[in-house]
Amino acid sequence: MAIERIVIVGGGTAGWMAAATLSRIRTGRDVAITLVASEAIGTVGVGEATIPPFVNFNKLLEIDEAEMLAAVQGTFKLGIQFANWGKLGDRYIHPFGGYGYEIEGVSFHHLWHRLHAEGDRRPLQVFNLETLAAHFGKFARTADYASDDLPPMNYAYHIDAGRYAAFLRRYAEARGVERREGRVADVALDGESGFVTTLTLDDGSEISGDLFIDCSGFRGLLIEQALGTGYEDWTHWLPCDRAVALPCNRDDGSEPAPFTRATAHSAGWQWQVPLQHRNGNGHVYCSEFMADDEAHDILVANMAGKPTADPNFLRFTTGRRKKFWNRNVVALGLAAGFMEPLESTSIHLINTGISKLVSVLSLDGITQVQQDAFNRLTGIEYARIRDFLILHYHTTTRDDSEFWNHCRTMAVPDTLTEKTELFRRSGQIFREEDELFNETSWTAVMTGQGIAMGGHNVMADGLALDRLRDEIDGIEKSIRYLVGIMPSHAAYLRKYCPAPA
Ligand code: FAD
Repeated sequence: MAIERIVIVGGGTAGWMAAATLSRIRTGRDVAITLVASEAIGTVGVGEATIPPFVNFNKLLEIDEAEMLAAVQGTFKLGIQFANWGKLGDRYIHPFGGYGYEIEGVSFHHLWHRLHAEGDRRPLQVFNLETLAAHFGKFARTADYASDDLPPMNYAYHIDAGRYAAFLRRYAEARGVERREGRVADVALDGESGFVTTLTLDDGSEISGDLFIDCSGFRGLLIEQALGTGYEDWTHWLPCDRAVALPCNRDDGSEPAPFTRATAHSAGWQWQVPLQHRNGNGHVYCSEFMADDEAHDILVANMAGKPTADPNFLRFTTGRRKKFWNRNVVALGLAAGFMEPLESTSIHLINTGISKLVSVLSLDGITQVQQDAFNRLTGIEYARIRDFLILHYHTTTRDDSEFWNHCRTMAVPDTLTEKTELFRRSGQIFREEDELFNETSWTAVMTGQGIAMGGHNVMADGLALDRLRDEIDGIEKSIRYLVGIMPSHAAYLRKYCPAPA
């Protein structure tokens, strides 16, 4: 059956990201794109920290960066600072760019380890531009200083989620997407194929379609409630199941930092996402070890100023749908699954879900092979991210609460154990199946959590020490020089993308 009508259910970040992308389909055939959402139900109201591929998502839509950032009170993000994770008082940054550079095929952290073994005491972090710039609250884009001798700057954004969805709504509507207001009250399925055919809204009006994109949030209106796809629960590996979100003013007079903060508490952790006009804050916690009131009080006690809204309490079950694409329904965003926001991966998964969908989409109809490829690749992506998140919880020496004792001693997937053991022994990291997190990410978090590299790639021993010292001195010098001439992040925002007052 040819696809002539695409229906998106949901007007949150996922729905509008899908609508904006699909509005650019140019095949010469008519495809009607309708998005239905309910103001009364609203959106989840969180999801403000992104990772670098999101910059490219906006570029592909030909969105002007400065205009978008001004519209969404956006700021730049160079990485995530983790505090109190490996042990209380610890702090490290997971940066978005690499450490140094590879020499003769050997990754930098092995070269650093070799020099370390020879007595060089400089920490790995000083060889990373994003870490140093974040530390000093500095920012510039590569385009501002483009020079072959200096390292590029890798970044993502902090965005106001509601404003970003509104921005994409304007974009998509200008390109022909029709938005319908209303609550979907009933979903009709075809008796033979089981495909979704028609949605009935609470005012009795109907919307029929050939392909449905379920962006209805945690409830999974089509993928779960209508099709009963099933859910794989990962709570035994990622036990946090609650969050309370609360934005605040920056009454402490601080400027927006160019990084997200993730500060561990006794049964979870707190995020701080700096926007131009306010901070986004939230406390992700495990209901088995902490009550809602306590989580709320800890959050309020650790914010930079007075709350600007009422607390938003959320419940979730970490995991994924058994199928992301079932019959003629593709689930994106929270409808597809959820892993907590520790590494800001949810919006990224919406992004990659959309690009996989667009890659396999054919307006001639839906085939099993499309669905199988989409489901297999998405499943791998989820599992690799899951392992990376578990790493933060499991690899800790914290024993100051029942929660941390549980996380430290819980069983973890074999795939993760293999990764940490290889690193412990030889510093080796294999990037599996095109996974999102690369060598820098794994190195940053494993070393940050306190796993020491027990050795390095034997090829690093074949490089002359003098040459190695010269190279890494040069790297450190150029990073320090560059950070020295950069403006502060706050000054950069004021000049490049100031939001209207
Ligand atoms: P929602 O925002 O819930 O939107 C669902 C839409 O469906 C709404 O428009 C609603 O009105 C509509 N709808 C539902 N039912 C019906 C119906 N019956 N009829 C009509 N319409 C209906 N992600 C990140 O990348 N970075 C982060 O920092 C981050 N932080 C997070 C923190 C927390 C605590 C949580 C829970 C999530 C976080 N996320 C984060 C995830 C992020 O919020 C989501 O991925 C993103 O907002 C997309 O949500 P959504 O569009 O899938 O769902």
